[in-house]
Amino acid sequence: MSKNVDVVVVGAGFAGLMAVHNLRKQGLNVQGLEKAPDVGGTWYWNRYPGLHCDVESVEYSYSWDNDLQQEWNWTERFASQPEILKYAQHVADRFDIRGQFAFNTEVTGAVFNEAADQWTVTTANGDSYVARWVVMATGALSSPKPIDVPGAESFAGTTLSASEWPTTPVDFSGKRVAVIGTGSTGIQLSTHIAKTAKELFVLQRTPSWSVPANNHPLSPDYLAEEKATYPAERERKKHSMDGLGLPGAGKSALEDSDAERTAYFQNIYDNMSPFTFFGSYTDVLVVDEANKTISDFLGAKLRERVKDPATAEKLIPKSYPFGTRRTCLDSGYYEIYNQTNVHLVDLLESPMKTITPTGFSTEAADYEVDVIVYATGYDAFTGTFKNMDVIGENSANLRDVWSEGAKTYMGTMSVGFPNLFIVTGPQSPSVLSNVMVSIEQHVQWITDCIAYLTAQGFVRMEATQEAQDAWVAMNNEIRQITVHRNSHSWYMGDNVAGKAHVVLPALMGVGPFRAACDEVAADGYRGFALAK
Ligand SMILES: Cc1cc2nc3c(=O)[nH]c(=O)nc-3n(C[C@H](O)[C@H](O)[C@H](O)COP(=O)(O)OP(=O)(O)OC[C@H]3O[C@@H](n4cnc5c(N)ncnc54)[C@H](O)[C@@H]3O)c2cc1C
Repeated sequence: MSKNVDVVVVGAGFAGLMAVHNLRKQGLNVQGLEKAPDVGGTWYWNRYPGLHCDVESVEYSYSWDNDLQQEWNWTERFASQPEILKYAQHVADRFDIRGQFAFNTEVTGAVFNEAADQWTVTTANGDSYVARWVVMATGALSSPKPIDVPGAESFAGTTLSASEWPTTPVDFSGKRVAVIGTGSTGIQLSTHIAKTAKELFVLQRTPSWSVPANNHPLSPDYLAEEKATYPAERERKKHSMDGLGLPGAGKSALEDSDAERTAYFQNIYDNMSPFTFFGSYTDVLVVDEANKTISDFLGAKLRERVKDPATAEKLIPKSYPFGTRRTCLDSGYYEIYNQTNVHLVDLLESPMKTITPTGFSTEAADYEVDVIVYATGYDAFTGTFKNMDVIGENSANLRDVWSEGAKTYMGTMSVGFPNLFIVTGPQSPSVLSNVMVSIEQHVQWITDCIAYLTAQGFVRMEATQEAQDAWVAMNNEIRQITVHRNSHSWYMGDNVAGKAHVVLPALMGVGPFRAACDEVAADGYRGFALAK
């Protein structure tokens, strides 16, 4: 089957749902394509027990429809995956978006026809869609990293992957379980599994910082208060650095005495969003000595939570500055190490040798387990594009063009791939923010841009090399003045073997990014070549 439309939107997560809704409102003929059987994206695929959002639920929701935000009632301070999925499904129903999508439809490629200025998008089902514009709402964190542990396929027990969790509940009671990975997913899963497993082995290479979520049900009074201030508050937060608009001390961390600083951090730890640490003092993400004050505070907290001092020391991150990896929220993670059935396996101390048919072996010992759970993260930003053949000008494949490091202009378009918009792409703030706020900003900008191009009769838009180079160079310069300057993490592509080490998220902050994007649009889409 081949179909002609104005726009193809790939992905039915929060970005794709909003893009389809906006573009349809403009009167365009829009085709959504999604490989999952339903909407939700991240929150559809990741059904593992314990998954909660790290942004408060009243903030992790759309702001573009006041009736929607007034009528939806979140039940917990940090929403669980089932509740967020229910919200995505509610949005799809309320705005009648599902009908615009073909589900169970994986996009395998897209080829740009230079003569017609159109894309032909092909799917695994053998269908094709010809469109002037394509919006890749495929998610910055939607392509799980391939399992690259030696011997993985030899394991005779049960293998589970966090990002493709079974739809029926998994019973760990009486089982010996290994969880590989200690990012947010590993932390949430281990906390859950420790409750019933006979033995739990948590395999850690790089520890994460984690702070208590202090999650709790939301009262009707609290919700009413939040809803009363929604429009003004959300407007304010959109222009903040992280999309959350959290308060800061307005001075250097080194200006306060140790006691003052500890009291200030303690208040954040007990009562505020953990993201407050990032903007707490003005220099914590810039000056190493100031940054260390947070690590020192959180290290002391961790030592209070874990009874065995040797285990506590292994759990404390020491190889990277605070803030160069996303801080996790937990509901009793560190305390699981006070249980006799839980064992931390430090892979820095004794590296993993291999998975075996009955368990795994490190350089120090052999372990027998019944279940292995992989919580090994994502091929962030670029993974979904590696899985497709996106062929632009001069038959160039985006996968090859990005093999030495993904580059875009404003996270939205890559040189040589005209008319192909990316939502929260490389060099956009996305993963360094309340991602919902970043999605809304990016989708609104892209759909406004398509409205402009359509109204003005433009048939082609392409980022210029000069604009892209300047954008990437600016991001690299910002890196040099922040604690990210020497960091290695998935933000820089370091978690995937063979992936280039480049700074993937934009480091300028959500508000400045929005201002830069708005300025470019107001200036007739400066840095893009437009053609009729
Ligand atoms: C486990 C996990 C926890 C997270 N927690 C938080 C959090 O606490 N706070 C926060 O702000 N953000 C969080 N995120 C980030 C989260 O991804 C975003 O908040 C948001 O949900 C992304 O929405 P999206 O629509 O951009 O992408 P996604 O939700 O990833 O949706 C992309 C969609 O595109 C589809 N797709 C991809 N490739 C193809 C293809 N070739 N063909 C067809 N369809 C395709 C996918 O199936 C998917 O449905 C988390 C991410 C993960 C993975």
